[in-house]
Amino acid sequence: MTTKRDYYEILGVQKGASVDEIKKTYRNLALKHHPDRVPGDKKKEAEDRFKEISEAYAVLSDQQKRSQYDQFGHAGIDSRYSSEDIFRGADFGSIFEDLGFGGGGGGIFEDFLGSVFGGGVSSGRRGGPSSGRSLEYEIEISFDEAAFGTKKTIGVPRHETCDVCKGDGARPGTKKTKCHSCDGRGQILQQAGFFSIRQTCPKCRGEGIIIKNPCVKCYGTGKQKITKKIEVTVPAGVDTGSRLRMQGEGEAGSKGGSRGDLYIYIHVKDHPIFDRHGYDIVCDVPISFPTAALGGGVEIPTLNGKVEMKVPEGTQSGKIFRLAGKGIKRLRGYGNGDELVRIIIETPTRLNSEQKRVLKEFEKSCSDKVTPLTRSFMDKVKNLLGK
Ligand SMILES: [Zn+2]
Ligand SMILES: [Zn+2]
Repeated sequence: MTTKRDYYEILGVQKGASVDEIKKTYRNLALKHHPDRVPGDKKKEAEDRFKEISEAYAVLSDQQKRSQYDQFGHAGIDSRYSSEDIFRGADFGSIFEDLGFGGGGGGIFEDFLGSVFGGGVSSGRRGGPSSGRSLEYEIEISFDEAAFGTKKTIGVPRHETCDVCKGDGARPGTKKTKCHSCDGRGQILQQAGFFSIRQTCPKCRGEGIIIKNPCVKCYGTGKQKITKKIEVTVPAGVDTGSRLRMQGEGEAGSKGGSRGDLYIYIHVKDHPIFDRHGYDIVCDVPISFPTAALGGGVEIPTLNGKVEMKVPEGTQSGKIFRLAGKGIKRLRGYGNGDELVRIIIETPTRLNSEQKRVLKEFEKSCSDKVTPLTRSFMDKVKNLLGK
């Protein structure tokens, strides 16, 4: 799993920053990174950044969430609030009101948040069922597991409906009451100059109801955090960046909404001797100078054990031989890629005097006919530089 950045660092404010300062900073950042304002190819990046700053703002602008975060860090927030609850009650409307995103009650912004967070968020609007947020999880597998496929059991932290209050939020046997500040509407109207601005009711945080006796297990959120064990079948042929979708394994929805999905991102570890290029694998194989000159059998490692390959007489360094079908199984479609064997001729080192003598003898016996590459190169140099 990727680690989350510090909320203060994300917004670029000091630990002791005032709520006003946080609001102002967030406003400026949100303007800069609002996905409606960036070109198409940068949209995804902007959305991610926008999500990040919005979450930091939602937590740091809320006194209760902020002190929870200051004390326990991300764990304090994640253990207590579902991803929707993090945003619940945060005041986005008034921030975007005067930026031209606003309209009535932060409409465009709400729509946007809704689309970014998968419909799980409403900035203070009381809603019916909303589907759960999708979750992302990264797993690391070995080169061989990617080549042949594997099964992995992972523990995904997510929120389930609280089993004590059945998602109601109130302690069993007690009842929720209507919020009197907003008369159950979840929003209040505030006069600002000539305009009246609709705002999330601060008393009930937009829920329209007050829970006098919150459920002791979920603190009234109706959700509990669990670690769900999920078996993932990783098909043969995946590579770093492959994404598997597991429908309905994301966060629980609210008020009867459907579950989000779980996206598994694959990261494949490097192999000590194979390099992957699509479905082909490349292996650098060193052979001795005599074998290269005289030809002979060379043992080649493949994904399925060793095979013997014949190199012809006079094989040059860098020569590539293709072992058809010895690569990785194609994820979609049939068959396998190939294995490409790249020959590296090893120059002998630490020769003793006898070996050196033999080599010098050998070189004396050679005419430039046996080294046509060198001869052709020297000819070119001569033409270029003269002499
Ligand atoms: Zn509960
Ligand atoms: Zn209220």
